[in-house]
Amino acid sequence: MINVTKTYLPDKSKYKEYVDQIFESGWITNQGDLVKKLKNRLESYLGVKNILLVTNGTLALQVAYKLLGLTGEVITTPFSFVATTSSLVWEGLQPIFVDIDSQTLCIDYKQIKDKITSRTSAIVPVHVFGNCCEVEEIERIARKNDLKIVYDAAHTFGIDYKNESILNYGDISILSFHATKIFHTIEGGALIINDDELYKRAERMINFGIIRQENIEGLGINAKMNEFQAAMGLAVLDDMDDIIHKRKGIYEYYLDKLSNKLRFPKYNVDSTKNYSYFPIIFESEEILSNIKQKLENENIFPRRYFYPSLDTLDYISNDKNMNISNEISRRILCLPIYHTLKRPEQDQIIRIIKKGI
Ligand SMILES: *Cc1c(COP(=O)(O)O)cnc(C)c1O
Repeated sequence: MINVTKTYLPDKSKYKEYVDQIFESGWITNQGDLVKKLKNRLESYLGVKNILLVTNGTLALQVAYKLLGLTGEVITTPFSFVATTSSLVWEGLQPIFVDIDSQTLCIDYKQIKDKITSRTSAIVPVHVFGNCCEVEEIERIARKNDLKIVYDAAHTFGIDYKNESILNYGDISILSFHATKIFHTIEGGALIINDDELYKRAERMINFGIIRQENIEGLGINAKMNEFQAAMGLAVLDDMDDIIHKRKGIYEYYLDKLSNKLRFPKYNVDSTKNYSYFPIIFESEEILSNIKQKLENENIFPRRYFYPSLDTLDYISNDKNMNISNEISRRILCLPIYHTLKRPEQDQIIRIIKKGI
């Protein structure tokens, strides 16, 4: 069976060495040594200042909204994984959608200002498929209108924009380290927070607001990463260069074989790639369904990322007219891409697609 992705499992003996350390110390959660070690190593690998490791990417978003004190309306994109929108609704915020740009598939920054009202408190854009948003433009709009920015950067692990980590933009960026992501900690996530004071508050917030024993300051929640998650992260991080290198080969082979037949998102020319996803855009939903079926008949399972467009969710009542997002989401398919995908398997996928179009 060939899936859209395959979880990267590191060398078992390496993972076991970390697990042995956990058993020796007897300390399995609450800011243990491995979480601290992973935090430091990620800060230097990614080129960011303050990284806070948490249970998963969705909680990272929710903590970010609470930390910045968001209220009322939040401008966001309808073309993303459901968690971008559901996390807002879960926190009692109202998502206000701005349609995407048909080329980049990121939020169309030119339409943001039309959706700003007196109730707007923030913008939550997504660097979708690792494609960096127009961060300078978005920052300009936010500053002018006194809005916060939280980037859902779940797809941009290790991506640099103009020779600096893309994660340094906005008030907060969040990452997901779910098993399906390019770097993972089984389940996991992180907040990247530029402001030191805000970072200190975030550390308390993910631990019930506790500073030290018997000393509680402010509302908190439990969002701590545990030592077994960190152990997986440390073991995977050692292999990151190899993971990205293998994916690059697969990515470029697809591109080479399919580029004169199909449309792809237009990538930001000022940023690097991490080869997390290989999305292709078909001429119609009918062609997509036809090809998807043919692939499934051969035990190949691409995924319809992202379908449906989030404005169609049953708990969303406004902004039901995200035409480009709806149109793209019906025609886009992500092809299998992972470290052990073999050339003959890729050739088989390419053959079926070429025949289908
Ligand atoms: C995966 C993902 C999330 C959620 O992360 P989890 O770690 O699974 O909670 C949020 N936003 C986007 C864009 C994602 O792809």
